[in-house]
Amino acid sequence: MKYADLHVHTFYSDSTFSPEEVVACAKEKGLSAIAICDHDSVSGVDPCMEIGSALGVEIIPGIELTVEKVDAEIHLLGYFMDYKVEWFGKKLKEIQLGRINRIHKMVEKLNAANVRIDADDVFKLAGKGSVGRLHLAQALLKAGSIRTIREAFDKYIGFLKPCYVPNIRFTPHEAIDTILKVGGVPVLAHPNIMGKDEYLPELVECGLRGIEVYHTDHRSAAIKHYEELAKEYDLLLTGGSDCHGLGKGKILLGGVMVPYTLVEKLREESDRIKRDYR
Ligand code: AMP
Ligand code: FE
Ligand code: FE
Ligand code: ZN
Repeated sequence: MKYADLHVHTFYSDSTFSPEEVVACAKEKGLSAIAICDHDSVSGVDPCMEIGSALGVEIIPGIELTVEKVDAEIHLLGYFMDYKVEWFGKKLKEIQLGRINRIHKMVEKLNAANVRIDADDVFKLAGKGSVGRLHLAQALLKAGSIRTIREAFDKYIGFLKPCYVPNIRFTPHEAIDTILKVGGVPVLAHPNIMGKDEYLPELVECGLRGIEVYHTDHRSAAIKHYEELAKEYDLLLTGGSDCHGLGKGKILLGGVMVPYTLVEKLREESDRIKRDYR
């Protein structure tokens, strides 16, 4: 049997892993394919593909976009997009600039709350990748302002916590439409973390094609629940580890995998979208 991990980050967003480390790790775990799904970036795709073709690991172009509702943070994955389309690159650039502004705002809020942190330290950690809250949490840890990454989110920068600042607002329709227009398959990431099933019908209405039923943070009750919802809404069932290198304390890659046949289904769905949607 061949297997795939369909949710992997690189240091082009908030993983500590380089493309070399990601692909070598996938190879070591015996995976046939991995999808590179960085936050608001596709910069890791080509470097991973180059190494993947040398090591015999298939790289699926992917992305993870964030959509916010007043009471929910929704993460959407896209698979098999034509990721080199120019307007798509421009759109991602805009979101990245929003991310930079947002870090400055969160740092201001933290400082106003007497939490010591310097924005430059956050940007240094992010390097050339999409800067985000995991970098901010890591910088807070380094500065000694918190004891664990979790504490940073629970006390300060978790969704709707006192020092949380949203990025540019994006509607579900805009995000899903963006993925569809570049021929990608839109999939709802880790629905159990979002915890708001009531948004599923709207997402499906916008063109959602799959749901990430299998995920590092999904226990068996959640898996069963989302398997049923996937059936009800006629969605593809996807899965991935959401590996952030050592960014989440331990290496998760390959901890969640799906049969390779699902990769073929996603590719077929993307072919249909490329044919019908545009
Ligand atoms: P951002 O894209 O800047 O909004 O940050 C999202 C990143 O923060 C993702 O990698 C999430 O997995 C991570 N994240 C969000 N909430 C938590 C949490 N409570 N604990 C650890 N990581 C979190
Ligand atoms: Fe992340
Ligand atoms: Fe996510
Ligand atoms: Zn992710």
